[in-house]
Amino acid sequence: MSSVCSKCGGPAFYTRRYSGEVLCQGCFRASIVEKTGRTIRRYGMLGRGDRVGVAVSGGKDSLSLLEVLWSLSETKGYKLVALTVDEGVKGYREESIRHAAWLADRLHLEHEVVSYNELYGFDLDSALDWKDARDISSCSMCGIFRRRAIDEAGQRARVDVIATAHNLDDFVQTFMMNLMHGDVSRIGWLDPLVVDTDFPIRRVKPFMEIYEEEVALYAHLSELPFQSTNCPYMHEALRSEVRDYLNELEAKHPGMKNVLFNSAVQVSSKLSPLEGPKLVSCSKCGKPSSSGVCSVCRMKELVQQHTKGSVGPAFHDANPASRHTL
Ligand code: SF4
Ligand code: ZN
Repeated sequence: MSSVCSKCGGPAFYTRRYSGEVLCQGCFRASIVEKTGRTIRRYGMLGRGDRVGVAVSGGKDSLSLLEVLWSLSETKGYKLVALTVDEGVKGYREESIRHAAWLADRLHLEHEVVSYNELYGFDLDSALDWKDARDISSCSMCGIFRRRAIDEAGQRARVDVIATAHNLDDFVQTFMMNLMHGDVSRIGWLDPLVVDTDFPIRRVKPFMEIYEEEVALYAHLSELPFQSTNCPYMHEALRSEVRDYLNELEAKHPGMKNVLFNSAVQVSSKLSPLEGPKLVSCSKCGKPSSSGVCSVCRMKELVQQHTKGSVGPAFHDANPASRHTL
């Protein structure tokens, strides 16, 4: 590695193996902000005057996203609000919510927090008691509740768009997992230009072109107090294997993740759905749904049946590649 930064001549700190750039700490951090700004422009993610809800769980990715968007917000003219979901995981969630609140406060941002308990009448700990007997992963089940909860937080905060911290690794992993599940139609929904009508508020992923390891490094250099332990329910064997495989490939062939990312974007644009599923109002909660009763209400009912002691019918895992990385 050259001993000086290729941008400013300062002391070298990081070599971006896929591009050969050598960067000092300051130029590395600046490059993450610039890259994120480029992704936002390329896909028209955010515009001047937008009220942007940033989904912040308190992990490294979401805290970094909040800080990076904050650095861009003044010149780009958008207003940020931090959105946090408290799933109710005792001994784990409290710490990450503290970190999210700390950063929102430091950046003088509004912070909207919604909890499963308040929205659904139970927390994740009790909901997952039931789950053990089901053929559905914790994250798939939790993800159904989470997506609705983030929308709810966004609606309360009156945001125009919600930014999530999915990075390039998440994007490629999801692409590969959809292939492995034979879920080709879902690949089209990865197209960054498609507007997923399942969500009442538009979703964007400003970190989707940044490697996970670079987001982690940014968080570390920014001295963000993120939680380093994972959610105790996070158990996604296939995703972990895909992650390890991709990391091995990248170590042997620097830039391979970028190549896969570009392929995934091209393939998803070819499979991009022309229109979303026809939506009706859920007969229970009134929210838009592709069937008579939405997945949240169906899942809620099963959890409630269990907590009353009876066992409901099997639930089809509608989103096997979901995981929250916020
Ligand atoms: Fe829910 Fe999975 Fe996130 Fe845990 S890791 S909060 S189970 S989506
Ligand atoms: Zn419903």
